[in-house]
Amino acid sequence: TPLFSAVATLRPPPSETPSEASLKSSPHYPEVVEKLRKVFRLKAFRKNQLAAVISTLDGRDAIVLMPTGGGKSLCYQLPAVCRGGKTGGVTVVISPLRALMSDQVERLRSLDIDVMMLASMDSQDGNSMHDLRSTSTTPSLVYVTPEKLYCNDAMKGILKGLHARRLLARFVIDEAHLINTWGRDFRSSGYGALFNIRKEYQDIPIVALTATATSEALQDIVTALGLSDYVLLSQSFNRPNLRYKVIPKKRDIETGIVQFIKEKYPNETGIIYCNSRAKTEEVAMRLKGQGLLTRHFHAGLADGDRKRIQQLWQNDACKIIVATVAFGMGVDKANGKCSRLQMLCNSLTFSTVRFVIHYDIPESVDAYCQETGRSGRDGKVADCILYYSYHDIQKRILQINKDTEIDDIQKDRKRQAVHTVNQFCLNEIDCRRMLLLNHFTEKFDPASCKGTCDNCASTDEVTDIELTTSAIQFVKMIQELENRCMKITGALSLHAFRGTSKHDMARRKFDTVDHFGKGSDLSTDLAKRLFDHLVAREILATELEEAQVANRAPISYVYLGSKAKEFLTNRPSFILTIRSARRGAVRSKRGLQWQAPILAPTISIRKKRASLEAAQDPVEPCSPNDTE
Ligand code: ADP
Ligand code: MG
Ligand code: ZN
Repeated sequence: TPLFSAVATLRPPPSETPSEASLKSSPHYPEVVEKLRKVFRLKAFRKNQLAAVISTLDGRDAIVLMPTGGGKSLCYQLPAVCRGGKTGGVTVVISPLRALMSDQVERLRSLDIDVMMLASMDSQDGNSMHDLRSTSTTPSLVYVTPEKLYCNDAMKGILKGLHARRLLARFVIDEAHLINTWGRDFRSSGYGALFNIRKEYQDIPIVALTATATSEALQDIVTALGLSDYVLLSQSFNRPNLRYKVIPKKRDIETGIVQFIKEKYPNETGIIYCNSRAKTEEVAMRLKGQGLLTRHFHAGLADGDRKRIQQLWQNDACKIIVATVAFGMGVDKANGKCSRLQMLCNSLTFSTVRFVIHYDIPESVDAYCQETGRSGRDGKVADCILYYSYHDIQKRILQINKDTEIDDIQKDRKRQAVHTVNQFCLNEIDCRRMLLLNHFTEKFDPASCKGTCDNCASTDEVTDIELTTSAIQFVKMIQELENRCMKITGALSLHAFRGTSKHDMARRKFDTVDHFGKGSDLSTDLAKRLFDHLVAREILATELEEAQVANRAPISYVYLGSKAKEFLTNRPSFILTIRSARRGAVRSKRGLQWQAPILAPTISIRKKRASLEAAQDPVEPCSPNDTE
């Protein structure tokens, strides 16, 4: 099936996951179990932990895909203390975040594990580094930042020395998906240089761990690290206790947020994500104005403020944080410091997050899963609410276009990621859980959702509307305008298409256009949806342009999209699948036809169809030619 082909075509393919029986008969098993209990004081392994530990102890490469909070650290910390620090050598852990690192180091020290952290670029690490060079008693683990590993010659020398003395046990690459994004985003940082690790240390096993399980990320890791015979350990990323909901963003969403929190979680912890520092301050203030105790938090705050908020948060004196996610991993590009929030969110020492609200759209579906994944860590129900507006999508695209720090390939990837978010939000039919998991190449039967996402919970009837003719006419209208070098905004294009007279300006300017008013049979809502879906399917494109007048919001113009030509040539039937209870949405001119909506496999559609067929008359599918 296409869902799994992405993983299956990884070159070279991963080895088979070791069986339970073979793991338990491994010569390492007794020691592993003993250390789990005595050193880590844990009772049992979670899924895939044992397989990861045994695989690396056997000297094999391993990729571990586990959701955040799943227990990735143990997969390399446990083997690090096996066979004794001296004979087993050092486990070198490459980790991108100093804050996360020191958190781990503290934890390990509290368990009496000998661990060293090398994270500063100056000579502060001098003593530790000296020890590594000279003595034969090595620590079990050395945590090192990628920058230090490859930009610091002394560090390189130490690794070479350890290698020569056969004291290098393994390399661990935590948050391994950053090999890709960082490697290209920040060429100067060390993550790009990890590409050489296999070449320089051919006999040293590598463990790569990540919570980003897209096939793209996987492929990047395998290629970049040059892994060949590796064990791939993945598991379900479904979070059954999270409730997903997408809400169209209208004016005054704060009132909705306040109402939701006061009614459902009056005394609980939550995070509200915004896409800029200024926005976090603004939103926090408005929420306070409506009687909600919130604080804003972003990487631009002074150290003292950050500490104070962290303390308030940990003492439960402040429950709701309005924060940025601008730099996915919490690293602020401007000053290179780590967001403490990232660390807080990944540690389980603070009270549990009951809701994550996206005030602005997330950067990507991956980011969305990471961010929502911070809620409900205790396994109890938590709510994830995403406020969506197409305007936010456009703003985000504009931001990417203007970003001077990334190259064109990176820009394309980021724009694509935003399109995927757009499709996810526009989809009001398919199980959200299924859409998210499909994105991570995991199958999910929507029947198992049991109404825990807004789409599955909706009782509104699902209707298919055939809009092929209207779609073609709309696209032709834009084509005509483009040919005549007339620019049109999204809103005006809808008026021109529907021929609505309210806009005299539109009428005067555009009524010489052949397709003016061709969509007069569509309701405002349906025309808007048609437009949104034409854009989501890249048949039309929109672009924000800075307004000529100062302080005015950017203006969005409509153009033909990359798939326009193909669409006008082949004229495939264009069907909108919608919830019919929405105001003014339904127009049933040509009857029903089914087609997989975007971002969704056909299986679920078939099921919905079966239930609908009883209610609606099925109609022969139209051939592309009989639409004009
Ligand atoms: P990840 O890196 O995958 O996000 P961590 O390694 O930080 O997750 O682990 C998350 C939490 O789960 C930690 O508090 C850790 O102590 C706990 N944990 C990990 N493995 C086990 C286990 N086998 N049994 C109980 N708790 C575990
Ligand atoms: Mg981790
Ligand atoms: Zn669902």
